[in-house]
Amino acid sequence: MHGGATADRGDGPVAEPIVQSATFSAASEEEFAQIALERRGGRFYTRYGNPNHEKVAAVIADLEAAETAMVFASGMATATTTALALLSSGDHVVAQRSTYAGTASLVLNVLPRLGITCTQVDQTDPRAFADAFRPQTRLVLLETPSNPLLEVTDLRAVSALARSAGALTLADNTFASPVNSRPLELGVDLVWHSSTKYLGGHSDLSAGALAGSAELLDRIWDTALVTGAVLGPFDAWLLLRGIRTLPLRVRQHNANGAALATALEAHPAVRAVHYPGLPSHPQHAVAATQMSGYGGVVSLELAGGYAAERFISGLRLARRAASLALVVHPVAMWAGTLEPGQISSAGVSPGLVRLAAGIEDTQDLVEDALRSLDALHEGTP
Ligand SMILES: *Cc1c(COP(=O)(O)O)cnc(C)c1O
Repeated sequence: MHGGATADRGDGPVAEPIVQSATFSAASEEEFAQIALERRGGRFYTRYGNPNHEKVAAVIADLEAAETAMVFASGMATATTTALALLSSGDHVVAQRSTYAGTASLVLNVLPRLGITCTQVDQTDPRAFADAFRPQTRLVLLETPSNPLLEVTDLRAVSALARSAGALTLADNTFASPVNSRPLELGVDLVWHSSTKYLGGHSDLSAGALAGSAELLDRIWDTALVTGAVLGPFDAWLLLRGIRTLPLRVRQHNANGAALATALEAHPAVRAVHYPGLPSHPQHAVAATQMSGYGGVVSLELAGGYAAERFISGLRLARRAASLALVVHPVAMWAGTLEPGQISSAGVSPGLVRLAAGIEDTQDLVEDALRSLDALHEGTP
């Protein structure tokens, strides 16, 4: 709640001002020369940093138990900049088979053109990571729970294996949020977010964040100046405002996700429910050692013959839209980013539906989902 607050408790605005300026003046030549060299500073040129970036990054670092943090224009800008900063031609990356479509496209379609190869592995098995490591492996891309299958990665085991193989780990913590899981405390080197999702929390901004050691972020900073994926000061301000209510919201996401998953699992029109909080989830035991709650995202597969689209159309509360707190049919959404073969090898089937519970009243949400399933099951659309 008070993360990133300055020691100054004197007079002044309680809400942060928005510093909507592209550049900053220096009082002297010496000062100008000094602030030009400052990494993650806030008062030189907004591509190099802005007071609104500085404020929100300090809060994100606090939340992730990190030495420091940086913000970007989107989640994907964060991942791409980090990969470009840490990898060179000839390097090898290990990534998960179940991963966000943009991340999959980065490792399958973009990095290979730069001479960087990738092996995708079954994230549920730490030995699969160990088997994939080569002398050239520099980076391991993790995501837990994964989008959209909610598969869980054992962060302690995989980060220890990567460390002994001399590779850095970069974990996408978007679905868990730092309220439910803090990968750096489990041995991961770097954490990133699509801050567009839970951190922002209101579907009104695009942003990304990266947290880790100052030494690593200094290296990435130099590349970030060149990729130039700058978060606007107003969006940085909105992001900080969103984060102030993160723990309250995540509490309700956790309650809603758990209630939805339990209710869906018991319905005859549902073949499978993927939610790490369910005792039936194959990695529930690992999830319980590294998460304090399981979030609002639940994916489900309908029983044979029931069309995902009809279930989605029958929902009254959830709107058909990308991002969290909404409903998506991943096979349709991912077609814009990946080839059909890449989509099916990520485990995304046509019958998969991803529901993301917002902060709605739990009973309203469960009733809405069950009403749509009942209509399918009884053949009354
Ligand atoms: C949305 C999302 C991203 C991409 O973030 P953008 O802010 O849309 O660029 C990355 N990872 C996960 C898990 C996501 O859900």
